[in-house]
Formats: sequence, C-alpha cells, structure tokens
Amino acid sequence: MRPEILFPLFAPTTSLPGIGPRLAGLLEKACGPHVVDLLWHLPREIVDRRFSPKISDAPADQIVTLTVTVDRHDPPPDRRRPYRIQCSDETGSLSLVYFHADKSYLERLLPVGATRLISGRIEVYRDKPQMPHPDYVVEPAQRSSIPDVEAVYPLTAGLTPKVMLKAVREAVKRGPNLPDWLDKAHREKNRWPDWHSAIITAHNPDSLTSLEADSLPRQRLAYDELLASQLALAITRSKARGLPGRVIEGDKSLRRKVLSTLPFKLTGSQVEALKEIGADMASEKRMLRLLQGDVGSGKTLVALFAMLNAIEDGGQTALLAPTEILARQHFETIAPLAEAAGVTAKILTGRNKGKVRQAILDELAEGDIDILIGTHAIVQDDIVFKDLTLAVVDEQHRFGVHQRLALSNKSDRSKGGADLLVMTATPIPRTLMLSAYGDLDVSRLRDKPPGRKPIDTRLVPNARLDDVIDGVKRKIDSGSKVFWVCPLVEESETLDLAAAEDRYADLLSRFGETRVALVHGRMKAKEKDEAMQRFVDGSAQVLVATTVIEVGVDVPSASVMVIEHAERFGLAQLHQLRGRIGRGETASTCLLVYGRVLTATAEKRLRTIRDTEDGFIIAEEDLKLRGAGELLGTRQSGLPIFRLADLAVHDDLLQVARDDARLIIERDPDLSSERGRSLRVLLYLFERDAAVATLRSG
Ligand code: ADP
Ligand code: MG
Repeated sequence: MRPEILFPLFAPTTSLPGIGPRLAGLLEKACGPHVVDLLWHLPREIVDRRFSPKISDAPADQIVTLTVTVDRHDPPPDRRRPYRIQCSDETGSLSLVYFHADKSYLERLLPVGATRLISGRIEVYRDKPQMPHPDYVVEPAQRSSIPDVEAVYPLTAGLTPKVMLKAVREAVKRGPNLPDWLDKAHREKNRWPDWHSAIITAHNPDSLTSLEADSLPRQRLAYDELLASQLALAITRSKARGLPGRVIEGDKSLRRKVLSTLPFKLTGSQVEALKEIGADMASEKRMLRLLQGDVGSGKTLVALFAMLNAIEDGGQTALLAPTEILARQHFETIAPLAEAAGVTAKILTGRNKGKVRQAILDELAEGDIDILIGTHAIVQDDIVFKDLTLAVVDEQHRFGVHQRLALSNKSDRSKGGADLLVMTATPIPRTLMLSAYGDLDVSRLRDKPPGRKPIDTRLVPNARLDDVIDGVKRKIDSGSKVFWVCPLVEESETLDLAAAEDRYADLLSRFGETRVALVHGRMKAKEKDEAMQRFVDGSAQVLVATTVIEVGVDVPSASVMVIEHAERFGLAQLHQLRGRIGRGETASTCLLVYGRVLTATAEKRLRTIRDTEDGFIIAEEDLKLRGAGELLGTRQSGLPIFRLADLAVHDDLLQVARDDARLIIERDPDLSSERGRSLRVLLYLFERDAAVATLRSG
C-alpha cells in the first residue's frame, strides 16, 4: 500500500483548486492524471518580466512590464467585439484588450485615473500597440507580486500557459517533505538539494541555466528517477535469483548429433555465447542472461544448443515467441534438428484449441515433450511441465520483466527456478540496456555466419519509382525474390493499408497475377500464412507487405528489398527490415525510396542505414538522433521512458544508480533499514508499486 505521505500527490488533478474535469482532461493529455504528474512536468522555457520599457519602446511580440495610467474604458457595442481600455505613459498610449469581459470587474481592476503595473505580451494592431489579456495587473505598491522570471511549460491544445502555471504551482505546494532516500555522503558530494527543495527550485527557474538538465536540482530529480527504476530491477532480479537455480550439465550427446548434421561450423561468437550460457547453467545460481545479436546472427541455433544441454540433463525446455509467425518460424528451424537428435519438439499457439491443445498439455505433464515452442499461450496457468529447467524468451522487445519470469517460474519450484535465456535482435545501446534490463548478464553475437555478402543499400527518390519497378522486374525475371514494404503509420492505419493494397494491385497488373502476394496486419492468420507460403515456396516472387514482416519471416532466397517512404521509418526499424535480406548466398540489394520532403534528421537516418550494417552503430546513432525517450517503438518495446532523466545527459548517473541499487539490495534486501524505508517511498513515488509488492511476498 502506498504510504499516506504520498496520498496528496496521487490524488487526481481535480483535487487542485480551479481544476475541474475539463481542465483535468487537458492536463492529463499534457502530463498525466495525478498531481504528481504535474511535479514531473518541468518547465521548458522562461519568461523574463524584468524588462520594463516605456510604451513607445515596447517591442511587438515581447513580454514587458509597463507602468501606465488608465485613461478611458471603451466597452464594446456588442459581445462579439472586445472591451478596450486605453492607457498611456508620457511616451505614448496602449490599449488593453479583453474578450468576453466582465465590465464591473475591469472597472475595479483598472479604475480611470489610476496608475497600474501591467505585464503581458505586446501586439501591434492597426499600427497601434495593444496588450490582450495582460498576465498581471497590479497597483504600483505591489510590484513584488509580479515574478521577475516565470516558468513556461509544455502545453497541449486548449490549455493556456496561465492555467498550466497555476496548476503546477498548486501541485508544488502539495509536495511534502519526504525523508531523504539518498545516501547522505553521496548527496553532499554532488551538492544536491533535498527532494522538496529540488522540486521547488526546478519549478522556479531564475535563468536559462536553471533549465538545463545538468543543473543541480534537475540532476537530483533525474537521479531519483533512475534510482527508482534500477532499484525496481534489482528487486525483481534478486527475487528471481532468490530461487536457487538448477545445476544443469548435459553430456553433449544430443549437441554432437545436431552438430554433425549441420552443413556449417558454429561462428566464434556462437561458441563464446554457448560457453557463457553453459557456465551459467552449470552453476547453482539461476541463469538470467540476454543473448543479443542482429537478425540472422544465429541466435536460434545458440538457443537450441542451450536447450539440448538441458534435455541431455533430463529436463524440459520452452521457447516463448512474441508472435504466431515467429513461433512457427522457430519451430520450422528447430523441428528438423530436434528430429535428427531424437528429441520431441511441439508448437502451441492460441490457434490450438480443444483436443489438440489438451493432447499437448498431457504430453507436457508426462514429460514427453522436450521442447515446447509457442506464443503467450504457453505461459497460461494450466500449462504444466513435468520438469522445466530452461526457458528461452525471444523478446523482440515485446515482453516485460514479469512475463519473462512468468514462464521461467513454471519450473518445479521444489527443485529450483528454471534458467532463463532472453534473446533480442534489437541492438540496444549500452545506456538503454542498463535501464531496461538492469544487470542482466549479456552475451553478444557480433560476427555473422560466414558467406554472407554485404547488402548494397541505395537511396532512391520517389520520382524514380518507375526505374525501381523496372529493376524489380529484371530481378524477378532472373529468379530473385523481392520484399516490397509499404509503411504503416499508426495514426492512419486505414489509409496506409489502402496504399499497400494499391501497390499490390499496381504490381499485379505489371508483373502478373501469380507473381505477387500481399500480407498485412489486418489479414486473418490463415490468409497471412497462405500468402507467406506462396512467397516462400510458391510462384509468388514479390511480397508486398506492411511492417508485419519486420518480425520473423525467414526467406533466405529473398535478395531484394524495396522500402517505400523509407523516411517515415525509424533507424531501428529500417535495420530490422533490411535484415530480412542478405541471408542467402546471393548478393542483395535494398532500395530505400524516399518522398519529396526530407527533414534533416530523416536524411541522416537514411544515410546511416545506407552506410552501415552494424546494428550497434545504428543503435547508437538512433539514440543520438532521437533521444532515449523517443526511440522508435519505445512504448511497445518495454524500454522505460524517463520523465526527468535524459540519458543523453544523465548517462553517468545511470551507472551510479545501478551500483547504488545493487549495494542497497545486497545490504538491505527487504528495505527494512531507515534508508530502506525511505527508499520504499521513492519506489511508490515513481509508481514502482509492483516492485515493493515483490519485496513483501518474496
Ligand atoms: P537469428 O535467430 O539470430 O535471427 P538464426 O539462428 O535464425 O538467426 O540464423 C539465421 C540463419 O543462419 C539460419 O538459416 C541458420 O541456419 C544460419 N546459421 C546459423 N548459424 C550459422 C553458422 N554458424 N554458419 C552458417 N549459417 C548459420
Ligand atoms: Mg531466428
């Protein structure tokens, strides 16, 4: 349960004065539904109200604070026109403009003959200066009630700066004095303020420098956020580790059999990764390892060898894939090799129902299945293994920590937890890796299987699409297979689907009915499979696809890829897509067709993709171009999105937070010391409630 001291921060924003349901809706759009979300909504700019020129010197479009005398009120003849108040100083005159004004209120605020300080933005209307709705109108004696410098916040349509400012101010007032969770020496060394002062200072910038990410209050807040995320990871991990692992050591018999059937040798990286995995499995600790490698680098084979190791030792294994297509692909790769080794591999997805499903469940419980491959269907509660000792999760960035553990916890707990191997094809930059996976051990496959030819990647303007089509025609006439990718942008899925269908129809008419197939996300699984099948071993040589082919789909004979509107894709996505070709023996070509308007960033992205095939370089570049929070697909990727920390700036803080978190959990695993109790507040503050719950139950 959330500690009481945080209740005011997790109240809805409607609990703030002046915020009703309508404004709360807008605030939610801009930053979130709770008071605490306003605290995390840091100012982006400042308004300096110290500039106090005379009227004749006041420049248009700037914020100024003027001392004026009220000369005359001009109420409008009808409600459509504004109420005007004429003011002046010794250099000129100015009118204040109010729409939908309340006459008596304005007469009290600005009585004729009085002197007033007004602050707001100057506009020029019909050659005359005016100030619509001044931000401040005060008597000269109250000058101090106009702030010198005011924070400006990111907004959303319909929300005015004034409302946002007021809402944040009220939220900041609710900010309690929290017990400090930071190590005192660490805090003092960095000269960081306490949390409460950090919040207040961050929301009251007095200069442009105080808006910078490395200002002391912002550093502290970023560190808090990073520490909360690292601590949550450390807790989950220590719980997973808490269950002892199994000592798994096969006799290599199955692995030898499979090796002898392979027409190639393992690459150096594969051997290295298998050594690391073997050592983890043989140890008494539970394995939690990430296997990272580009598409086609041979991860599946590594996973299979790890599984064979477990099977040799008498256990069962499971491989969880994010999509049906991927699960099938893994099954097709693994099944023949399993058969050669004499082990039983089965696939289970959401499509298997009734008797078929029950039969698999029975075999699984009996221990007759050695390798179970499937989608989330294999994580369901009624899936019971006789003795699961290794769980492999092909992540493709789609599962969270908890799903991963859900599978590996299907082990016979009296004997210990199943070892866990997570595979990912997305090269995650080092900094993000840490924030997403904490201190998961990592094996990387750096070298590709030998014999792969580099892909010839070219940028082609859309105006030359006809040449592209001619080129594709020549390729298919000489027997090549071609992926043709049409972008699918979320906001207008229907429109883009139409674009893919149009392209399909267009290519059909040019190349002939039987040579083109279409797959997209809205198709039924069966239709999709049929289309894929026609491309894999049927007559279809061109596969028109939306990005559904990004994940999975292994067609080594495909050697050409055309990506339309390549400028709309992120770097990571382009890299993944291109990884679908260049897998066979023939030289491959990738054509990135780009639209007319190319932003500087889009151009940089396309050049990067053209110039390198190294996933790690591409990932680092992606991080540079987009910033961590915006990495394409970040939301569905399960990578954390930080609100206060900016990994481009706070990279070093992340490392420190990781070490800090580790040490904390080592020394005080239940967070029961005084600092531990403060750290629990920190976890709740950053909505890591699940981690605290883990702490309690574990
Ligand atoms: P990933 O899972 O990393 O995308 P796969 O394991 O599917 O890669 O391997 C891609 C292709 O490369 C498969 O056809 C596989 O048989 C082949 N392959 C894997 N390891 C090697 C190797 N050491 N030498 C040659 N080909 C290999
Ligand atoms: Mg694979």
